[in-house]
Order: sequence, then structure tokens, then C-alpha cells
Amino acid sequence: MAGVLSRDAPDIESILALNPRVQAHATLRSTAAKKLDKKHWKRNTDKNCFTCEKLENNFDDIKHTTLGERGALREAVRCLKCADAPCQKSCPTSLDIKSFITSIANKNYYGAAKLIFSDNPLGLTCGMVCPTSDLCVGGCNLHAAEEGPINIGGLQQFATEVCNR
Ligand code: SF4
Repeated sequence: MAGVLSRDAPDIESILALNPRVQAHATLRSTAAKKLDKKHWKRNTDKNCFTCEKLENNFDDIKHTTLGERGALREAVRCLKCADAPCQKSCPTSLDIKSFITSIANKNYYGAAKLIFSDNPLGLTCGMVCPTSDLCVGGCNLHAAEEGPINIGGLQQFATEVCNR
């Protein structure tokens, strides 16, 4: 296209278009194709599940909540709410991560938990045990920031736990 200096991936082109195309059907993409796509936005290529030790019946990695309300709010306001949201694209459950983080930033913890559970009924468990450094956190656009990528698993655990109290 003449005059265009750079092009984004097709999904981003659609978001940025003046009259974005409304999709009236689900898009199915194979795992192999998704893995190929992920190479374009994954920031920490040194971490991936192909080199992880087997995690079956291994609960050593369970993270006990380290985020209190103040920590969660501070972490939530750091999120850039990116249009391309590589965090969401890296999530096997396609969790609407920036929306639930926005809810936390607005102190709407119930809304955040509702968003999480509607996409993933195992939201609390996944917040505790997901290998987030390979998935959502591995794609976060704040990877190179001084404070590092958003602690998405911690925020997920906080929202779902605070709602169950
Ligand atoms: S990539 Fe990181 S900064 Fe961007 S929306 Fe996702 S969590 Fe927020």
C-alpha cells in the first residue's frame, strides 16, 4: 500500500482501522499456528514450556499471595491496557487480561473476578500455578520496563481470592 511505512499484524490493523470489521463468527486457529504467531510478540524467548521440567503432580511452584490490596492497585495502574494485548493472545484461555486489570485498578474486585471466572472457571488455581512467565507475562509489553512485566498471575489470584473471602 503506497505511503504506509509499516504494517501491523492483521488483527491490529483491524483494531486501528477507522471502520473496524465486525467479526460475526469465531476464528479457529490451530495450536501450531498460535505457537508460530507467538514468536512475533514473546519477549523472554529464553523461557518456554518446552524446556520446563514436568509439572504433573508437582505443586512446588504454588505462589502464595504476595499481593495485598495496595500492591495489587499499584501493579494494576502500571498496566498500559495495550491495544494489541499480547498478554491475552498468549493465554490458553484467552482471558481478557487488560479488562480485569482495569477493574482492579478501579477497585472493582468483584467485576475483575467475574471477568476471570467467565473465561476460566479455574481462575484462582491458574493464578496460583500457571507458568505465567512463559504465557501472559512472557508477552507483556512492559518486559523491558524498569519494574518489569505486570504480575498478571498475582493480580488474578488477588482478584479471585478477595472475592471468595
Ligand atoms: S501486555 Fe502487559 S501492559 Fe499490555 S495490557 Fe497486557 S498486562 Fe497490560
